[in-house]
Amino acid sequence: MDIMETKRPTVPAAEEILGGYFPVLDHGFVSLVDYMGSDEDVERAARVSYGFGTRKVSQTRGLVRYLRRHQHTTPSEMVEFKFHCAMPMFVARQWIRHRTASVNELSARYSLMPLLFYTPEKGQFALQSRSNNQGREGDASDSVYAEAVERWERLRADAGDAYGWMLGEDVAREIARIDLPVSTYTQWYWKIDLHNLLHFLTLRVDSRAQWEIQQFARVIAAMVRRVAPLSYEAWIDYGLEAQKFTRVEREVLSKLVVAAGEGVAARDGVTLSVDQMKAAGLSAREVQEFVEKLGPPEHSDFDLDLSTMCSADDMAAKMFEAVPSSFE
Ligand SMILES: Cc1cc2nc3c(=O)[nH]c(=O)nc-3n(C[C@H](O)[C@H](O)[C@H](O)COP(=O)(O)OP(=O)(O)OC[C@H]3O[C@@H](n4cnc5c(N)ncnc54)[C@H](O)[C@@H]3O)c2cc1C
Repeated sequence: MDIMETKRPTVPAAEEILGGYFPVLDHGFVSLVDYMGSDEDVERAARVSYGFGTRKVSQTRGLVRYLRRHQHTTPSEMVEFKFHCAMPMFVARQWIRHRTASVNELSARYSLMPLLFYTPEKGQFALQSRSNNQGREGDASDSVYAEAVERWERLRADAGDAYGWMLGEDVAREIARIDLPVSTYTQWYWKIDLHNLLHFLTLRVDSRAQWEIQQFARVIAAMVRRVAPLSYEAWIDYGLEAQKFTRVEREVLSKLVVAAGEGVAARDGVTLSVDQMKAAGLSAREVQEFVEKLGPPEHSDFDLDLSTMCSADDMAAKMFEAVPSSFE
């Protein structure tokens, strides 16, 4: 194949990791396979420019931030990302709900499934949360964890054995795979534009998302940072770490702070009790959420650990090794 130097603008920080595989969880990965565009392309689309501009970074930054602040989102749809990812099936089920991406998943009707299953580490093996029905909190005992690992291993050995046996008996792959558990790793190519990717990340790096999908989202956020650092920065400032106040919350806030000339001032000595906030129209749950909104944001700073990056060949070899041996 003849290699031609591209006419497209590229980003050195993105080129550094392009095609590299970053491990996530025990057997998963994310790789940035390709990207199209960067912050300058957001600006070019917004201005409907001819050719590549010669604008200063500070001008691009100003515009990128203005667009994000005012939810003028279509220019950021001009930047595209293509990823190769491997994740447990239960994570894939959450991930696939984001409908604005193009996906092609490994076909278990066609391909042999690597028998790789996710095993949570002890630190993630927590008890059911009492405050959040969708969450976990509090450590489970060592003995419960040890037995869970033992049970998982038994189930997976059985499921993997049945799968391998059926393949050996020439049973169709689409049938042989039906009892592989949702802890089994699947893979896909996932292509999405910057705007929709930032929406995905807002929901999935959030502490309310399941911890396992958060780990993938964090790696992807760090990749976005390399491809489009100004958009990433604007997303942190105006999206991820920003808060939107409801009508009643604004009314409550206006009892505490007031516009003063061109600035703002705190009203002297005013405090608001829970009952007063309820009287203003907030429910008990909303009061709790309002107080949380006023707290310091979680510090979000996503970065890649380059020492974990491995090659496509190494990752492919690892996956190949996990295909049932009866079929070698
Ligand atoms: C913490 C958490 C818990 C969740 N729990 C559950 C659960 O218990 N059960 C469950 O089923 N799901 C659950 N979800 C999934 C959630 O309801 C969404 O389906 C998922 O987050 C995708 O969000 P989205 O639709 O905004 O994203 P995308 O599908 O990426 O869409 C992006 C945006 O495009 C627009 N859009 C896309 N498609 C349409 C459409 N057909 N019609 C109108 N607008 C559209 C919307 O504005 C949407 O916000 C959960 C998600 C999170 C983050």
